[in-house]
Amino acid sequence: MATESCDVCERSVRIAGGIGDLWNFAFESTQGLTLELTDGSEFFLCFECMESLPDDHEPTADDVADLRARTEPVEGGRDHFWHWK
Ligand SMILES: [Zn+2]
Repeated sequence: MATESCDVCERSVRIAGGIGDLWNFAFESTQGLTLELTDGSEFFLCFECMESLPDDHEPTADDVADLRARTEPVEGGRDHFWHWK
């Protein structure tokens, strides 16, 4: 088990071990994933932020930057699960 910071809200997100297999296993135990954009850039996003990305086209780095500008960094998160941090 590992954690990674969401590139948008900066929350620490729990992730499974094998990034490459995220879509195949342990999906439910994972709360974010690395998003590979069509322009080749990569961002790690929690699912919550991912749902905030536009869904009418392939998200771009600009969309991620725009979302980050609109999102308040989460300090420890509002979910009690994160209090151990
Ligand atoms: Zn996030």
